[in-house]
Amino acid sequence: MRPAIGVGCPSPRTHLPTLPRATQGGSASAGDGQPPPMAGGRALPSVGRTPISLEDTMTETVTGTVVVGAGQAGLAMSRCLTDRGLPHVVLERAGIADSWRSRRWDSFRLLSPNWQTRLPRWRYAGVDPGGFMTGAEVARYLQDYAGSFDAPVRTGVDVRRLYRVAGGWRLSTSAGRFLARTVVVATGDLARPRIPAVAADLPPGIHQLHTADYRNPDQLPPGAVLVVGAGPSGQQIALELARAGRPVHLAVGRHKSLPRRYRGHDAYCWMERLGMLDRTVDTLPGPPGRTPNAVLAGGTRDLDVPRLVSEGVVAHGRLLGCADGRLRFGDDLAGTVADAAANATRFRRAVDDFVARTSMDVPAEAAPEVVEVEAGEAPALAGIAAVVWATGFGRDHGWIEAPVSGVDGEIVHTRGVTAAAGLYVLGLRWQYRRSSSFLDGVGADAEHLAEMIAERAAERPAVLAA
Ligand SMILES: Cc1cc2nc3c(=O)[nH]c(=O)nc-3n(C[C@H](O)[C@H](O)[C@H](O)COP(=O)(O)OP(=O)(O)OC[C@H]3O[C@@H](n4cnc5c(N)ncnc54)[C@H](O)[C@@H]3O)c2cc1C
Repeated sequence: MRPAIGVGCPSPRTHLPTLPRATQGGSASAGDGQPPPMAGGRALPSVGRTPISLEDTMTETVTGTVVVGAGQAGLAMSRCLTDRGLPHVVLERAGIADSWRSRRWDSFRLLSPNWQTRLPRWRYAGVDPGGFMTGAEVARYLQDYAGSFDAPVRTGVDVRRLYRVAGGWRLSTSAGRFLARTVVVATGDLARPRIPAVAADLPPGIHQLHTADYRNPDQLPPGAVLVVGAGPSGQQIALELARAGRPVHLAVGRHKSLPRRYRGHDAYCWMERLGMLDRTVDTLPGPPGRTPNAVLAGGTRDLDVPRLVSEGVVAHGRLLGCADGRLRFGDDLAGTVADAAANATRFRRAVDDFVARTSMDVPAEAAPEVVEVEAGEAPALAGIAAVVWATGFGRDHGWIEAPVSGVDGEIVHTRGVTAAAGLYVLGLRWQYRRSSSFLDGVGADAEHLAEMIAERAAERPAVLAA
């Protein structure tokens, strides 16, 4: 029988009902404002070897594992530890799933379809598996996930320092100190908005903000807007601003185009079918690097620079700076757009090969017309009211006082296991699979780390001491 694919994605893993609320597994729980979840832990008088601060004078919570961060990574970790009866607490400086609530714009929608939002023992069970949740809906989805197993999350707790002590780790936080045998850093791969140095050269009258702080066009002062960066966020925001009647300039850097749908199915459906999302880092010819994300928008329409230009956006090459009262751009626009389009062509070819190989019953689709774009005239600085920096994010691990970073400042690890015994990281891009930093991929890494942590917990208990 020839394989066929139906609505959403052909994966047998799709459309499974949400599991019933799981019974609590061994880990203690506490909601907001509750006493620290002790789960077999005990409060000790603090024994400081570090300079005394107010937090050092507070009591110390001792537990098996501290997970830092309550986004999807921290919650998936908590679910896997709970399943194994491993005592732990999740410390979160803001609220559960805060980044989906406070760092996405009003019209934001997931790039990945709803059916592909699978976490350990939790999956989308709503009415629109082929749709794309808003930021608020993802936040609710994760909040419900935490509630489903009474995740021991303590919100409003900022972890300020993490350092080694005999047998484990101490965390100095805004709510006192924690002592744990094991720590999982789940503070996000996209934690710190990155703004290039050229921002400092712009006149003070130009309103500047990062995509993490962008909400909607009305938030910006009247006038033309320069969006810097043509990844998914930059292109989506440029389109929204143009449709709101704003004159929009887009500084186009390296990016990848991808058709939203091809041969009757969503791009993520094909990526899953082709095994692209499960590809592991050890099968790559070299380090994965920070290659750009493919440009997609939630929905059924394609998004790329030629389409933006057809909507009135003025495209430019990479932003170089400003001189003589004008913005300066590189002359690389045509090449960058052609490279981005080549990614879409490769993708279509890979799908075509797969369809031919498997005799899959899907409609044919003609290759789209190649549209070239010309760079617009560089605008005068006086004509720009606002700049939106769609220039990505970096990690924020400055609070970790352990020799686990490489020369580039990034944490060195193998599948999330660092060289420092008992210190793990979760949710990084290409942590193990291509999907490791996605809603759908972090769960597998959390399961793996939970196994590591269970093994460590089964070893002869170490004496935790300052
Ligand atoms: C614009 C955008 C669109 C995206 N779209 C998709 C998509 O469609 N599909 C998909 O699968 N993925 C998407 N992602 C990627 C990924 O799913 C998100 O980045 C997601 O938020 C990562 O979850 P996380 O738990 O790893 O990190 P985060 O959600 O960033 O959670 C980390 C948490 O740690 C907390 N924290 C940080 N430091 C500390 C500290 N020192 N002490 C205490 N708490 C701390 C933070 O407050 C935060 O709540 C998108 C990302 C962005 C930026």
